[in-house]
Amino acid sequence: MSALPAAAPPSDLHIERGASLRAFNTFGLPSNAHTLVRVRSAADLRRVVNDPELGRARKFVLGGGSNLVLTRDVDACVLKMEITGIRLLETRDDAWIIEAGAGVGWHELVSWCVDHGLPGLENMALIPGTVGAAPVQNIGAYGIELKDRFDSLDAIDLITGRTVTLDAAQCRFAYRDSVFKHELAGKSVITNVRLRLPRPWVPVLGYLELERKVAETGISAPDARQIFDWICAIRRAKLPDPAVVGNAGSFFKNPVVTPEQCRDIIGRDPHVVHYPLDDGSFKLAAGWLIDACGWKGKSIGRAGVYEKQALVLVNRGGASGAEVVTLARAIQESVYGRFGIRLEPEPVVW
Ligand SMILES: Cc1cc2nc3c(=O)[nH]c(=O)nc-3n(C[C@H](O)[C@H](O)[C@H](O)COP(=O)(O)OP(=O)(O)OC[C@H]3O[C@@H](n4cnc5c(N)ncnc54)[C@H](O)[C@@H]3O)c2cc1C
Repeated sequence: MSALPAAAPPSDLHIERGASLRAFNTFGLPSNAHTLVRVRSAADLRRVVNDPELGRARKFVLGGGSNLVLTRDVDACVLKMEITGIRLLETRDDAWIIEAGAGVGWHELVSWCVDHGLPGLENMALIPGTVGAAPVQNIGAYGIELKDRFDSLDAIDLITGRTVTLDAAQCRFAYRDSVFKHELAGKSVITNVRLRLPRPWVPVLGYLELERKVAETGISAPDARQIFDWICAIRRAKLPDPAVVGNAGSFFKNPVVTPEQCRDIIGRDPHVVHYPLDDGSFKLAAGWLIDACGWKGKSIGRAGVYEKQALVLVNRGGASGAEVVTLARAIQESVYGRFGIRLEPEPVVW
């Protein structure tokens, strides 16, 4: 971890008081921020740290609000990440290094790479949210996780205002997890992320839905643009668009169980969807467990379970965060009652 000196005048911040967060979370849940600061540079963050009022306040870092359940107003100082910029930093023999600001939309970055002939991120197309939040839960989809394409990131310490640079080992990436959900939660703000796209490019086609596309189209050697288009089509067909139906994507993590637990569950239901992992454990499809408990299409109040995918909870119109949490708890209880598995929510609940 390297440290750079902090310095910035405490002025020129874009501050809003009593700002509504409804448009800033993809569930569309009602909540107001006591104070919201639009962060457009690392210098803005140092100004916040050095400000007599904001520096002392508790902080809440907000990206695209796509992994968030807001159950009340936010009394902390909301730092809304709006740092822009994408560039090809370096072309090495074995990789391209790309750098993007924390406020860049993740899908915008993936599209930019495909448009500029820089393959490697296409399997993660159409994941909502910002580049800065991508390392927080080590986003992943269709056989690739952020950690597979990660080089390093810059973050600002909210106490000292200093910039630190972290490599993959220091980020401690795991399944939907990183150091930013533990020791650095609420203490450190990611400002820039550098990605490493390996050369030569090797397509990742091992996922069932991609294998089907290869079989259906007869295109056995798709390029990155083709995979990008397939992923967008697959996702649009099965996930609700947050602009139309409020949601936060997969609501629960896929539980990982021991071989004994897996055998026990197969004994109760031989059809349970499970995948062997390299370490001998098994990953169970949380959506299948929820569906098996009869939740698909059901609602509690104005919060519901998406008709096409039981892993996605949706806002049926005017739901509160409390209604979403009540539904999530009821699902957890019934899955535990039937399978003895405790489902863990993926979004951050405030
Ligand atoms: C329809 C839909 C589909 C989805 N599909 C996937 C998927 O396929 N795979 C997947 O992994 N996820 C998926 N998600 C979840 C979500 O897109 C990701 O978790 C995304 O990375 C969240 O980004 P965000 O900017 O919206 O973060 P937010 O929801 O704003 O924040 C999430 C967390 O990250 C923290 N954070 C945000 N920015 C920063 C920063 N710059 N520095 C430090 N901390 C920060 C916040 O404080 C919060 O704790 C999906 C969500 C939706 C709505």
